[in-house]
Formats: sequence, structure tokens, C-alpha cells
Amino acid sequence: MERTNSEAIYAEACEHIVGGVNSPSRGYKAVGGGAPTVMERAEGPYFWDVDGNKFIDYLGAYGPIITGHAHPHITAAVTKAAENGLLYGTPTKHEVKFAKMIKEAIPGLDKVRFVNSGTEAVMTTIRVSRAFTGRTKIMKFAGCYHGHSDLVLVAAGSGPATLGTPDSAGVPKTIAEEVITIPFNNPEAFKAAMDKWGDQIACILVEPIVGNFGIVEPQEGFLPLVHEIAKEKGALIVYDEVITAFRFHYGSAAELLGLQPDLMALGKIIGGGLPIGAYGGKSEIMDTVAPLGPAYQAGTMAGNPASMLSGIACLEVLQTPDLYTELDRLGAMLEEGILQAAKKHHVPITINRKCGALTVFFTEETIVNYDQAEATDGERFGKFFKLLLKNGVNLAPSKYEAWFITSAHTEKDIQDTLVAVDLAFAELL
Ligand code: PMP
Repeated sequence: MERTNSEAIYAEACEHIVGGVNSPSRGYKAVGGGAPTVMERAEGPYFWDVDGNKFIDYLGAYGPIITGHAHPHITAAVTKAAENGLLYGTPTKHEVKFAKMIKEAIPGLDKVRFVNSGTEAVMTTIRVSRAFTGRTKIMKFAGCYHGHSDLVLVAAGSGPATLGTPDSAGVPKTIAEEVITIPFNNPEAFKAAMDKWGDQIACILVEPIVGNFGIVEPQEGFLPLVHEIAKEKGALIVYDEVITAFRFHYGSAAELLGLQPDLMALGKIIGGGLPIGAYGGKSEIMDTVAPLGPAYQAGTMAGNPASMLSGIACLEVLQTPDLYTELDRLGAMLEEGILQAAKKHHVPITINRKCGALTVFFTEETIVNYDQAEATDGERFGKFFKLLLKNGVNLAPSKYEAWFITSAHTEKDIQDTLVAVDLAFAELL
């Protein structure tokens, strides 16, 4: 595969942009190094790179592109937005329309506020939780990602009920001490940590269906227990649905699970490809936010007309009848095909899948928590990633990410992908 132009552009990027990338996960460090593929154009389920190679894409821009690239309905909405002026700094009717649309789709959101990223959305739910409860500590689950604000860049302490340590230079130890990180799907660790810290915890951050150490669903009874004990101890539950909202059906993962968090953070899909985040929840909690209450949050770009119109258009597309049934059908076809190819070539794998999102783990173990995902064969994933790329399939360059099928993928794309997977497995061992 010709990669001369990607390599030249990346080399130049490294001189001007730190690390050559604007988000660390875009680099190929986790898959054995080399220049990341520099893409030039995207349409439907396909990417074309700067060397003229074509790829079937499952990165989906790390999740937002669920309707496929350059969807005509979204493109038209964004074009119209640009023609009418990109940024006003005043209220617009689009914000109201979009807020109503999101509220109708997701139960329990009395009030919402739009921001510009998932990071901002989660960061603000923490501030609001702290303002509302008057407490400072937060709890989260190991391996879940909640953006890059200080409090959520904290690693687990050495035991299930110890305080955290900074996971990034620049995060003060005093901040890390406010964070308790425990394993997902582990009721004992959760109960022990809540016994110790429960009455000091402002909120518990939950990815209700994990997307950040691969797709991992909560085990039966785990999240209901989290809700029950949180309520008992007066801690709020915040669902980080930045990946999950509108991913598996037209609405939240919370609704699928039959659970109601106090606050929710949204992002990715709801922007239709433009920068966005949102948070919302019960009025009594949201009313602590400025200008109504004492918890401050603001944004020059927040609720900008282009992101609103792009988001509205994306949700309109997602209302297409049977869209999610089709994502699930293609997801099942891809899962089944990959498993068969793995069996044929004696490659030990496990697939976790929910609707059109799946993760291939290089292990035979069942994956329910981060330690298990971490123990899977990263080197083998790196090789698999590069072989797929060579055969025209683009994934996220990390063993922890999901493959995202879009509504633009067809059965033919899945079949072509399975041919590439077969070739990759044949060369892998
Ligand atoms: N929460 C979750 C669950 C995420 O997956 C991400 C991004 N991958 C974020 C928050 C942060 O979102 P953003 O990159 O838009 O800041």
C-alpha cells in the first residue's frame, strides 16, 4: 500500500503540531508505531487517504459519525447554517428546538445546557453535583474515559477503597485525592468503597454501557446496586452517555437499562459531526447552574447555530424507521463473520457487541472489566490493525476502542470487510 504522502505530511505535522496530532489517540503508538494515515475525503462508510487508498471505515470519528460521512441531510443543514452566519452569541430558536428534541428522546432531562465537547459536559456535571450536594469527592470506574479535565485524569489507587493518584502530569495530588476509582462490574469493591467514602461523594460517574475499554455491558444487577447504594448515601449518579446516547436506539442507554440517573452528559452523535456536548437532568439539580444558581458554566461557542442545526439534522436521520434494527443486523453479521474467520485460522478472540458497536479482544476470556481488557494481546491487535489497513479497512488504532457500523454501511461493505479480516487472520499468527 502506497503511504508516501501520509508519511510526508505526518513528518511535517510533527514539526508544527505537538506529536503531529491534535489528539493523542490518533497516533499509531499503540499499534506498533509509524505514520498515521492522513485522510483526505470521506463519504458514506468510506475514507480516501492522501495517497489515493480507499478504506471501509469503522472509526466513525471515534463515534459521532453514526449516519456515515457527509450525509446529505446533515451537509445541507450545515451549509444553510454557514450561509446564515456561523456564530451569533445570542439565543437562537435552533437551541430551543434541539433541546426539545433531546428531551423528547431521553426521559428525565428536565433541563439541558449545550457545551462544546464531551469533556466540558462531564466536567460540568461534576461541578453541578458538587454544588448541589456540598460534597467534593467523586467516584468513577477504572478504564472508563470521561474527557481530559483534571478530576477524571486520575488512576485507581492501590486497592479498591483507596484514593487515586494523578494519571497525567499537571494534575495535582490534592485533586487526585478527591477521586475514588473502582473496578466496573464488581459489587464487592463498590460496596467497600461506598462504606468508606459514600457520605463524602458528590457523584458517581458511570458509562452505563462502557465504550472506553472496549464495548462492555454492565452485568445483571450491578448498576441497580450502584443506584440503590448511591441513593442511600446521598451521592448523585451521573451517566456519561457521550458514546452511548443514540448509539443503540433513538435515546439513552439509561432507558434501555431501565435506570434513571440524576444527571447525564452527552456528546459525539448529537453534534452530527460538529463540536458539541450537552448535560442535563432534574430541574432541582440543573437550577444550581448560572444564571439561575451559583454553579458557573459558560461558553462563547456553546449552542452555536451550526452545531445545533447539524445535531437536529442528525437526529432527524436517526428517526428513519428500522435504522437501529439494520445496525444490529449488520453488527451481528460482522460479529459472526469475524468469529468464523478467527476459528478457521485458530486465532483466539472474544467479541463484545451491542447493536452496531463491537470490540474484538485478542483473548478467549470474557471481558467485563478493565484489568481483563488490559491483559488482552495488544501486540497482536497492532498487527491485525495494520493488516486490515493494508487490506482497505480502517479501525481506531487502539485495542480498547469499538468498531462503529454506520447507517451508510451495506451488507456488501460487511462482506468486503470479512474478506479483509480473513486475509488479516491468515497472516497474523
Ligand atoms: N466521555 C466519554 C464516555 C467519551 O468516550 C469521551 C470521548 N471519547 C468523552 C467523555 C470526552 O469527549 P470529547 O472528546 O468530546 O471531549
